[in-house]
Amino acid sequence: TPAETPTADVRLPLRPGLEGLEPYGAPQLDVPVLLNVNENPYPPSEAVVADIADAVARAAHGLNRYPDRDFLELRTELAEYLRVESGVDVGAEQVWAANGSNEVMLHLLQAFGGPGRNVLSFAPTYSMYPEYARDTLTAWVAGRREADFTLDLTHVREQIAEHRPAVVLLASPNNPTGTALPLETVEAICEAAVDAGPTGPDGAPTAAVVVVDEAYGEFRREGVPSALTLLGRHPHLAVSRTMSKAFGMAGLRLGYLAATPALVDHLRVVRLPYHLSAVTQAAALAALRHRGELMAQVASLRAERDALVGWLRDHGLEVAESDANFVLFGLFPDRHEVWNGLLERGVLIREVGPEGWLRVSVGTPQETAAFKAALEEVLGW
Ligand code: PMP
Repeated sequence: TPAETPTADVRLPLRPGLEGLEPYGAPQLDVPVLLNVNENPYPPSEAVVADIADAVARAAHGLNRYPDRDFLELRTELAEYLRVESGVDVGAEQVWAANGSNEVMLHLLQAFGGPGRNVLSFAPTYSMYPEYARDTLTAWVAGRREADFTLDLTHVREQIAEHRPAVVLLASPNNPTGTALPLETVEAICEAAVDAGPTGPDGAPTAAVVVVDEAYGEFRREGVPSALTLLGRHPHLAVSRTMSKAFGMAGLRLGYLAATPALVDHLRVVRLPYHLSAVTQAAALAALRHRGELMAQVASLRAERDALVGWLRDHGLEVAESDANFVLFGLFPDRHEVWNGLLERGVLIREVGPEGWLRVSVGTPQETAAFKAALEEVLGW
């Protein structure tokens, strides 16, 4: 017999502030060309799939046991990857990981945010940030970006001084705009954050933790160094990365960060025990062994992005400078109509960002061609 649905005569004690809210997420539609969530369009090869499957099978023999809570082997390999990718020496004890960088940043706000505290960011930016704030009872404060989506340092310093944030959250490259922060800007913000956080238990000011979210870091253009290069100088800096984008492993759910061992120790306090499953750890380690192959498409995706930016500009559209694997373009008097016209032609992009703009992820050359053809039709070019 089917389970009976209880009648709705009991009121659940939903936390104030959550009334009527919808869960976050882009529509997951069954459409031929998916360019809406900044995924890597290239699936892993048969060889990588076989190796991951093998590693997971070996881990499966031990699934009666809880996994390594501190996942030291994985942290060691992530540290090694960062050393190769950015030339920055970080030890395993400086690395933290969780189920996607979303969870890494939630850990940061669980450890450093909380009631009576502020998290400061600069809009437009990644729409999950206010949700981390909401879920950790941290107040969300959004400063502004300039018309070209860069940050004005004077404004940033004023916002820090005014709000004494516990955390300053900066995406670089930023989503949905693609804007990367110059290293000097990150450095200046780290300096402004010293003694600019909330008052500590001894009555003395703390530093604001500066989080640079480099989810799209590997797609940055030549000459834009990673904020990882500043780690040695700023103990209140954390740089977050993910295997979801450049690695092409969004389905794996593995994000990580690098910071000081002391900062990482604070995150270890708030994580749930065994939050990274043995399956996740095994699959991530296997994927990291194939990083050369998995990352091979990064250069072509960058080239594809730059060509797409050029093509959109040649057609008279406004396009934000992008260091990521997506492009924000506009301006449309009715962006929904354009988005919908593309969808009707089998191309799903994202209606996100300031009014009038749309965001398209960089796909394979075939997907880009389909996007261009659809856009030409929709705009009557
Ligand atoms: N940061 C930014 C700026 C993002 O755009 C995303 C994904 N859209 C994430 C973090 C989270 O990615 P994940 O949880 O898959 O690591």
